[in-house]
Amino acid sequence: MLTVVEARNRILAMVQPVSREVLRLADCSKRILSVDIAATSDLPLFDNSSMDGFAIRSDDTGAATRAGLKLRVVADIKAGEQPNLALHEGEAARIMTGAPLPSGADAVIPIEDTDVQDWNTDSVLPEFISIHKKVAVGEYVRPRGLDVRQGQPVLQKGTRLKPQDIGLLAMLGISQVQVHGKPRIALLSSGDELLEVDAPLESGKIRDSNSYTLAALVEDSGGEILRLGVAKDSKRSVENLLDKAIEQKVDLILSSAGVSVGAFDYVREVLESKGELDFWRVNMRPGKPIAVGRYRQIPFIGLPGNPVSAFVGFEVFVREAIGQLAGLATSERPRIRVKLSEEVHSDGRESYLRALLQEHDGVMLAKLTGHQGSGNLLSLVQANALLIIPAGVKCVPAGQEVEAWLL
Ligand code: AMP
Ligand code: MG
Repeated sequence: MLTVVEARNRILAMVQPVSREVLRLADCSKRILSVDIAATSDLPLFDNSSMDGFAIRSDDTGAATRAGLKLRVVADIKAGEQPNLALHEGEAARIMTGAPLPSGADAVIPIEDTDVQDWNTDSVLPEFISIHKKVAVGEYVRPRGLDVRQGQPVLQKGTRLKPQDIGLLAMLGISQVQVHGKPRIALLSSGDELLEVDAPLESGKIRDSNSYTLAALVEDSGGEILRLGVAKDSKRSVENLLDKAIEQKVDLILSSAGVSVGAFDYVREVLESKGELDFWRVNMRPGKPIAVGRYRQIPFIGLPGNPVSAFVGFEVFVREAIGQLAGLATSERPRIRVKLSEEVHSDGRESYLRALLQEHDGVMLAKLTGHQGSGNLLSLVQANALLIIPAGVKCVPAGQEVEAWLL
């Protein structure tokens, strides 16, 4: 039986990033960069005002006294206009936020700090303003290159593009972006007991919930899903569905159930006969039985059937594998340390327990969300974290810290 780390490493060794494509910037949200991006220009692009006010020469204000300093207003600069004037001694130019500074000006005094009362866009430009304070060089000026220097690396390949990343690319005028293709993941369920969610219930049957949970997880981790449906508990039915996945040239096949030691668990057998089975048991709970290998060359991960086990198996093994297929530099979940508010038990396997974290006086306290049976999905719905109890540990007392993944 493999440890979780060994199993994860063997899975990650099976998958490489898929193709690349060039997309319009508007289509790049959540996509993964396949190239490093360096700034194509300085940002801001030019010296500009950070306030609505008056562009001035800071030197002029050395004499600003209680009596005030009078400046002649010689221009009105809107955002989007390039001023073609130079400010001389004793002069000011009305300027709007984001408008370029005229030459000669080296500071802005906000409207609120002048004697101008009426401030709306179509108010008459005053002939003079008076100010009562000394203004330092650069005040309320956003100098060119303050944020970003041309040539500076700004985004690394392998990054999943966040909204703010997309905004930065837009600022730089990068309208076409090289990203990794989305990996295509085939998904099947298996079991004679499974019905479609909209089928009338029959006695002894249950609904195929895993394909919904897993499809949502695949999408969440950046994969594109190909739903194969439900295989019956027969070798031929499992093979038929898997062959469909092969026809569709998917990057990974994901299944649930049929990997244990039940009399009708055919998934492993199919792998052994039509591909290769790398391993099928991991020292963890829930989710010990898992079938990993290849079906006709395509990487295959067979998760356990119990709904919570399938979920945990996905989080422990599949999310990172899809991340790697998708070209993500790192998709390992950050672990945080939390304090147990009750004693927890394990059977010595590496355990992933459903828990609710709540902050009390700056400490994250964790308590289990009810019965940890691997079929109880509500306890997972109610959880906001999975506590990770290391292998070899059977009891952790209340008050002790453990690691957790935020869900
Ligand atoms: P198995 O691995 O086939 O022995 O399945 C283990 C448990 O998971 C059984 O109780 C199954 O009924 C249940 N199960 C298997 N597949 C699904 C599914 N797609 N949705 C919900 N429960 C399932
Ligand atoms: Mg079954």
